[in-house]
Amino acid sequence: MIGATSTPAWAQFLLTEVAHGLDAFNLETTATVKDDGNFDLHTPNPGAAKYMPPTLPFGGVPRVGVVMARLVVNGVDKGIRPFVVALNDGKEMCKGVTARELPSKSGCRAVGHAITSFDHVAIPPSALLGKWTRTQLRGISTLGPSGGFILHSLAQGFVLEALYRRTAAWVSATPVENVNFRNAICAIVKATMIGHWRRTGVNVADRCSAQEIFDYNQFMHVESELRGVAIAEGDVLVLGLRLAPELSLAAILAAVRGEYRGARANELLLPRCLPFVEAIGHRMEFEAATNAGVSAPLVCLYELGAVGAGLAAYVEASGVEKYAVGAIVSQEAWDAFVGSLDVYRGSSSYAPFVDIKARL
Ligand SMILES: Cc1cc2nc3c(=O)[nH]c(=O)nc-3n(C[C@H](O)[C@H](O)[C@H](O)COP(=O)(O)OP(=O)(O)OC[C@H]3O[C@@H](n4cnc5c(N)ncnc54)[C@H](O)[C@@H]3O)c2cc1C
Repeated sequence: MIGATSTPAWAQFLLTEVAHGLDAFNLETTATVKDDGNFDLHTPNPGAAKYMPPTLPFGGVPRVGVVMARLVVNGVDKGIRPFVVALNDGKEMCKGVTARELPSKSGCRAVGHAITSFDHVAIPPSALLGKWTRTQLRGISTLGPSGGFILHSLAQGFVLEALYRRTAAWVSATPVENVNFRNAICAIVKATMIGHWRRTGVNVADRCSAQEIFDYNQFMHVESELRGVAIAEGDVLVLGLRLAPELSLAAILAAVRGEYRGARANELLLPRCLPFVEAIGHRMEFEAATNAGVSAPLVCLYELGAVGAGLAAYVEASGVEKYAVGAIVSQEAWDAFVGSLDVYRGSSSYAPFVDIKARL
């Protein structure tokens, strides 16, 4: 809230536009210098409307905004500048300023986010903060990670459906007495499904940026739903802790030697249980998708994602030489490192210090 005006007012910052979020460098709102010295603040198209800042006329306290717009002088674009603009008087919008209330956000307190546009609003010369001279703005480079996450989640959807069909058939064809097999299949499917969501779902939601938080896109609902699913009827981590040792021969041998529980098992075995179960699920998914005729590029993309999720293990198992070559990884490595250093020896009797008799 600011008190620079005669009455206190809420201040908003209007930068983002509907069609220009992180690339604000390309925003389109214009502030054109008119013959009388005023500026004409205008939203030239719906994509140039300001997106998100709460500009609604509620609470009885006026709102002003620092609006980022292109300064246009004699038809020349002089770059993006900030302008102080009255938005509403606390009860109704100012003339020429339109605010459209955005729908509710999931799980957050309502602050009245809006889409705001300006229809040739006249603002005085003093509204411009700073100088007329051009400032240097830097755009952001364009990467393409968003499409990658979406394609990976699409591929996961296809292979998960194939896995689900295959395993549902297995489970229903398995006699109830064979409960261990049923439990194992269910644990693998669940751990694999939740693992995909944890790695991909959150990223897909994040890539939707502000759209992530609105109820109608259901990201937050899916998030809380799947958090519940991950815990209900057996938390995936604990399912993995139980299943992996049962499946792993090394662990069975360790169990025979009495090392199934204890500090050593905690250190070596437990952290690997869930990734181990998920890796089995990845393989099952790959086979189910291939057998079900899921298109080859999707299966290939899925495979790349699965390998990427456990890259260190795949690299270790691929037979390449040890990828950690640091001298401190073992005593042998250290000894070899010291032994490899150039050695300098000699027989010099160089003595830089003059022999000074001590005086008492
Ligand atoms: C709670 C909330 C309050 C806000 N309040 C204000 C406010 O007061 N004033 C205001 O002006 N704005 C406000 N905003 C808007 C906010 O600044 C924008 O949401 C943000 O800049 C991102 O813009 P966008 O949502 O249009 O996403 P986009 O720019 O469309 O980005 C979508 C996704 O695309 C990806 N992406 C975009 N560009 C690149 C690139 N160059 N390289 C790689 N990937 C890219 C990113 O992963 C990004 O997550 C608010 C937003 C929220 C959620």
